[in-house]
Amino acid sequence: MKAGFVTILGLPNAGKSTLLNLLLGEKLAIITPKVQTTRHRIKGILTTATYQLVISDTPGIIEHTEYKLHDKMMGFVKNSIEDADVAILLVDGNSDVKKLDEIFTALHLKVPTILAINKIDKLSSTNVQYVQDFFTSKNYVDNVVHISALENKGVDALLKAVVNLVPVGEPFYADDEISDMPTKFFVQEIIREKLYLHCKDEVPYQSTVLITEYKEKNTLTKISANIIVQRESQKGIIIGDAGKMIKKIGSEARADIETFLQQKVFLELFVKARDKWRDNEMHLKEYGY
Ligand code: GDP
Ligand code: MG
Repeated sequence: MKAGFVTILGLPNAGKSTLLNLLLGEKLAIITPKVQTTRHRIKGILTTATYQLVISDTPGIIEHTEYKLHDKMMGFVKNSIEDADVAILLVDGNSDVKKLDEIFTALHLKVPTILAINKIDKLSSTNVQYVQDFFTSKNYVDNVVHISALENKGVDALLKAVVNLVPVGEPFYADDEISDMPTKFFVQEIIREKLYLHCKDEVPYQSTVLITEYKEKNTLTKISANIIVQRESQKGIIIGDAGKMIKKIGSEARADIETFLQQKVFLELFVKARDKWRDNEMHLKEYGY
């Protein structure tokens, strides 16, 4: 049996969460076209007869943190590197490779590393070759693969390469466990995904979600959540004209939560303003960061 910790690292939007979900065959991490959707380190557990991989999805690397929230997010990235046995550096093939090289070099990785060029579905083969050649010569890279996480191409080869590099050992988790995060966390993330998908400009970045009530009854689960925003004026944006926006967020989130929990859900949403919560240690702690 082989068992080890694998961390997926990369810039915002590289496709890290898409890759985690694909590897696990389950939607664990939320995915949106916006950067900085993922704020936590989310461990997904993949167990087969011959190996167990504990795979961390991480927030995208930000070079210049602006808020305490960003510092917390980069702390999660650092933690995932500290206990990794293997690192996957996930790269959008269209990004600036020199910039990426600077960022990856600064991580001072001491573990076997696979560089995975993602989004090959929208790259020319010349482009893929260029990125591949560029990174093959770097001494922190042990292996280069190319994949499309969206179209499930090349991912088996990536998985094989990962398993090769993982040490022999006993599993860390029971074989029916899929994540180390509690159910409530995923519920909160599903609501947060809808904020990212439907709210414009800075609103999703300045929002978070806190589950305030979670009651499992015979026929349904009753969930109440606060959507926390940064300013009073943003409450109106989340609520929308005649409550249209919050209704849309609520009904889409409820449908996804029902799929996730395999149960009927009653979801109640409230909107609260907490001044500059992203820079407030007490609030960050309360909201799970
Ligand atoms: P993360 O920020 O690294 O976690 O990136 P996400 O997984 O949230 O993905 C960011 C965006 O890239 C989403 O719109 C994804 O659908 C898209 N994406 C991810 N992988 C691929 C891929 O292989 N090909 C294409 N074309 N898009 C992808
Ligand atoms: Mg993500």
